[in-house]
Amino acid sequence: MSDSARRPPKFPLRLDQMAAPRKTAPKAPHGSPVLKPATAAPLTPRPLLRPQLPLQHAAAVSARRTPPTGLGLDSAGVRQRMAERLRAEGLRNEAVIAAMAAVPRHLFVDAALVTQAYEDTSLPIGHGQTISKPSVVARMIELLMGGAACKASASLGRVLEVGTGCGYQAAVLSRLARQVFSVERVKPLHDKARELMAPLRATNVRLVYGDGMLGHPPNAPYDAIIAAAGGEALPAAWTEQLAVGGRIVAPVHDGSRGQVLVVVDRTEHGFERSIHEVVQFVPLKSGLVR
Ligand code: SAH
Repeated sequence: MSDSARRPPKFPLRLDQMAAPRKTAPKAPHGSPVLKPATAAPLTPRPLLRPQLPLQHAAAVSARRTPPTGLGLDSAGVRQRMAERLRAEGLRNEAVIAAMAAVPRHLFVDAALVTQAYEDTSLPIGHGQTISKPSVVARMIELLMGGAACKASASLGRVLEVGTGCGYQAAVLSRLARQVFSVERVKPLHDKARELMAPLRATNVRLVYGDGMLGHPPNAPYDAIIAAAGGEALPAAWTEQLAVGGRIVAPVHDGSRGQVLVVVDRTEHGFERSIHEVVQFVPLKSGLVR
């Protein structure tokens, strides 16, 4: 156990104020390139749903949209090949591989980009944000599955995701967790994620419009917290809302290295953290966008 595990650390945790990491993986280009809004392809306008509309209604609206056809993307084989590539690149957790093979990523990207849906690349989703590349989603969830609570129960349990974006990662998480609470601060993205997720009927996912820097207190504590946006430090709310045995995986700014993936475990005695590879996520921002 490290010193930092015995002493309750001050929050928010900043990497440069924390004790030396347990282990540091070599630099690996695991990040999602941050796409500037200028490079983003225009999104096809889709009807936005009011948040209070029930999921069944969202499913009906979504069913009226024409899904991409003729590209073979609706075939499980395309996803299986993507999952096999992830395995070849070092992904080991079979449950994560199966979840990546199951979720139709092409349903979450804009029609103009759909042929790239199963390439290992991040893609623009509007509002200057991106869907993370599959290898990064898989890697972060694999790290999350290494938490004590998850190892004991073979499930992610109750998960908080900060940064719903288009909802793709929430859909992957839903296959590995009991419940997923996914928070998004940009209202149009939150609304669109509801629409995109509806056909999947992931009844264990709740999408929340809010500032994820505050966590989501109503359903805390969480067994797992995963962030798809990176800040200068881990917000105090996340460590406060983490259950004992739980794990956080998040990108955090680390001085000269830029952003790195940070893992924080909550034990009965305190917090332990480890630092992993360099990544490149969109910034974690406070407040709401309507
Ligand atoms: N997991 C997403 C990736 C989305 S990109 C996917 O699969 O598509 C990161 C998202 O984090 C963006 O949509 C951005 O708006 C959101 N974000 C940034 N700061 C946030 C905050 N404080 N609370 C909630 N969402 C936030």
